[in-house]
Amino acid sequence: MIHICPYCMNPVEFYNNDYIGELQPVNVDNENFNCGALQSKVILKNAKCSNIQNLKMNGGKIAKKLNLTKEQKELFFRKIIEIKRKKNRKPDYIILEIAINSVI
Ligand SMILES: [Zn+2]
Repeated sequence: MIHICPYCMNPVEFYNNDYIGELQPVNVDNENFNCGALQSKVILKNAKCSNIQNLKMNGGKIAKKLNLTKEQKELFFRKIIEIKRKKNRKPDYIILEIAINSVI
């Protein structure tokens, strides 16, 4: 399962539990090299909910970081649009997370 950071929208392959819901800073693990943000309640509360254009832009960056094939990338983008249409008010990181995990 790939996680998407609500703060920087980077794909994160591994979250230590320490990264979720804690308010004090934690060290960044090697597995989290893409992201050093602490997944605090503040970050989760302020998670962006933007339009499809923005989602696709961040989706493109994620696809590149994860070296998706052309087919995976097309499916990923289709999923993003499909989920956004159904769940318009879900934060971006959740939509990207569901979409990416359905193609890899
Ligand atoms: Zn991050």
